[in-house]
Amino acid sequence: MSEKTTGELSAEAVAALDPPEARGILFVVSSPSGGGKGTLIRRVLPTVPRLGYSVSWTTRAPREGEREGVHYFFVREEEFAAARERGEFLEWAVVHGNLYGTSLGVLERELSSGRDVILEIDVQGAESVRRAPLDSVGVFILPPSFEVLRERLRARESENPEQFATRLRNSRAEVARYSEFDYVILNDDADRAARQLASIIYAERARRARQESLARRVLATFPESAAGA
Ligand code: 5GP
Repeated sequence: MSEKTTGELSAEAVAALDPPEARGILFVVSSPSGGGKGTLIRRVLPTVPRLGYSVSWTTRAPREGEREGVHYFFVREEEFAAARERGEFLEWAVVHGNLYGTSLGVLERELSSGRDVILEIDVQGAESVRRAPLDSVGVFILPPSFEVLRERLRARESENPEQFATRLRNSRAEVARYSEFDYVILNDDADRAARQLASIIYAERARRARQESLARRVLATFPESAAGA
């Protein structure tokens, strides 16, 4: 593995993508491990039309119940490194000792089907996406407290004691980066938090800057003088 621990696509490669107006919005959703972002996203995806999910690549082992191509594409480190060398990731990062990356191919499939896309990635990945010249919106999911986070992580029973400790140890530094995001959602009640996430998606779609071409098309149907009235 190279010494770098994060990376993003070059500006030239991003510039070669479709023009920004034709593209969907990337919603970057981050939280510390156990913050509940997965649960919120699973609630929002079926309720918001035109919204897709980008399945990441990872070198970590699948947890019980996790399926290839649904939760992640599970790959070996060499496969990951080769894809990274070929420039196939929008961003990648080492998170809690494993490699994770957003595959451009997967993302493009979603975006080109005319959908906005949720990226469920860590705070380092969120920073890489923010630096890329793409239309993205950052949402940080805030757990109510350290105690609640620890309980959620424990109840999940998905990590061995060492991984559990690593994730808890990293959580403060992750929460401290909330200020880098456009929105912060307190995840004290999953229903309410999911409604808030959906509201953010709808509100961002309605931003004037994203409605320019629609507004101009509508305006063009109006006669210049009152004569056509
Ligand atoms: P987990 O192992 O619990 O599924 O994920 C650990 C962390 O890695 C979570 O914060 C998750 O959001 C993040 N993660 C998942 N996929 C990606 C990715 O493609 N890129 C980055 N940077 N982080 C990711």
